[in-house]
Amino acid sequence: MILRRLQQSLQRSTILRCPGCDTVIEFDSINMSEGVAACNQCRKLFRLSELNWNHRSREEVLQKKPSGCSLTPWGQSLVVIASTRSIPGFIGLLFFTLFWNGITSVFVAVAMAGLWVNFVGPLPDWFPAPGVKNGQPLVNNAPMGVGETLFLCLFLIPFVAIGTGMAIASLMALFGRVKVVIDELDSYVSTGIGFLSWKKHFDANSVETVRFTRPDWGESGKQPQAAIELLGDTPIQFGSILPNDRRQWLGAVLQKIFSDNTHDHSRPAPDDATIPIPHWLHSDR
Ligand SMILES: [Zn+2]
Repeated sequence: MILRRLQQSLQRSTILRCPGCDTVIEFDSINMSEGVAACNQCRKLFRLSELNWNHRSREEVLQKKPSGCSLTPWGQSLVVIASTRSIPGFIGLLFFTLFWNGITSVFVAVAMAGLWVNFVGPLPDWFPAPGVKNGQPLVNNAPMGVGETLFLCLFLIPFVAIGTGMAIASLMALFGRVKVVIDELDSYVSTGIGFLSWKKHFDANSVETVRFTRPDWGESGKQPQAAIELLGDTPIQFGSILPNDRRQWLGAVLQKIFSDNTHDHSRPAPDDATIPIPHWLHSDR
């Protein structure tokens, strides 16, 4: 069953590439019952989920830089940025956020009214809560008690949390970005908007492989999103929220930076000029 599905998807998506050297992997080199594939170029075995499923070569991906992406040398470091902006995504998220928070806010107003009445005093006239009579919020025609108020507050926590998450996701679709800083002393990937971002640190000199993760074939149904994975002392994953073309580009840039240095020092790549690889990177190898 799984084998047949694999075979079908292999035939459909045609070209698989080595995550290390980008060589196209022939159908003969794939052992489907073991779920592994061999790269004849670098003589390594890879799990099928680690292969790069792309009909375009790394060079082709690098030649067409998608909008919202940049690569900037910064002293002895490199800063690679891919924006998470997606206008259709933003519109969809904004619509859902307004809808969700519009409904939630009515209940929050009632909860606030309950808190005010029970702990402060009569409600001011302007307070925008439904069902208020004579400065007293009513539940089933009776004044709202402390217990009911506290229960409502607790009950609303997940709804408010989801609403807040949706609002942040909307902002991410407009202003968010994934920034990779490759620095001799402090390399990290930050995802988010300005100060509202989270960082994952890694050691640039320990990165050996950059690959795209794929849904694991073993577990049907569970399909984690594709992400970029840096494998080193501390493996990190990121970039699953990027649109596909920008994730492809970011991954290709990182593969270029990290794999060129590990494999072949003698033969400079023809487009070395476009990616200024810091001289300290892998200099000890
Ligand atoms: Zn290879």
